[in-house]
Order: sequence, then structure tokens, then C-alpha cells
Amino acid sequence: MVPIVQKGDPVLRQIAAEVPIEEITSPKIQTVIAHMKKALASQNDGVAIAAPQIGESLRIFVISGNVLTDALRSKDEKIPPLLDMVFINPKILKLSKDKEKMSEGCLSVRWLYGNVDRAKKAKVRAYNEYGNIFEKGGSGLLAQIFQHEIDHLDGVLFVDKAEDVEELPPENH
Ligand code: ZN
Repeated sequence: MVPIVQKGDPVLRQIAAEVPIEEITSPKIQTVIAHMKKALASQNDGVAIAAPQIGESLRIFVISGNVLTDALRSKDEKIPPLLDMVFINPKILKLSKDKEKMSEGCLSVRWLYGNVDRAKKAKVRAYNEYGNIFEKGGSGLLAQIFQHEIDHLDGVLFVDKAEDVEELPPENH
């Protein structure tokens, strides 16, 4: 099991370091990515995870394939299950001016939930786990995930920005 770091651990407050491009395919970084996927898969409600959440201060986040599949299936029922998607050294290229209050929680801030103002649409540029650069746009949950995860890489937690924060222990889910 890969433990998920909880609020109060200083690693969650650090500005995470960029991954040198030539190191993306190294065993060290590939192991970090594998551990992130394992930690994410261990949580029923996990939609994404950032490297600091497993104690690695690196600019990497992973989005669960389940989220990506659900997003596409809303348009086409026949989409096969997608794999987890890895974002290394992500940069936000565009945020819509249009914002909405989104309900939010975090694998590192158990078991608090609150509402955060997030841009409705976002576009990011990042490297994948093979070292190839790509761009991805998203709206709704996907846009929210981009913003939440990049906040993690800058030492920001959703509770720093959230309103109406309440505790909902897992037995109430
Ligand atoms: Zn989080």
C-alpha cells in the first residue's frame, strides 16, 4: 500500500519541483508515477492525485481513467475504459473567466468538503509519462481537477479557498 500524506505534513505546502524532461522515463520517476496510480486506485472516491500527496515534491499529477471514461461516455456510450492520464510539469494555458462554485474534497484533507470557485473551462499543457508534450482542455469536473491538482503542486489545499466547509466522515457517504 502507498500511504497518502495528510494535511499538516509540510510536503503538501512546498512548491513542487519541475521534473527534468530527460528524467521522465527514468526508473525513479516511473516508480513515483506507479506509486501515484496505486495510491489513487486504493481510494473509492479518488479522481486524481498529485505527487506531493505521496510525499514526492515533484510537479506530477494523475487523473483516474474512470473520470476520463465517464466524461466521454456522457457523449458516447460505447467508449471503452480509458487508462489513467499522467500530467508532468503541467502549465495552465487558459482558464475561462466564467466560474462556478464546485463541491470539492481531497484525499489529503479527510473528511472535509466545501465549495470552491473554479473556472468552468481550463486548458493545460504537460508532458506524459513517455516524455511527450500534449495539450488537453476540459470543462466541469475535468477543469476542476486541473485547477485542484495544480494548486497541490504550488502548496495550496482546497480548504485554503473553500466556503461552507463541513466534515462528512465516510460512514455518511
Ligand atoms: Zn487534493
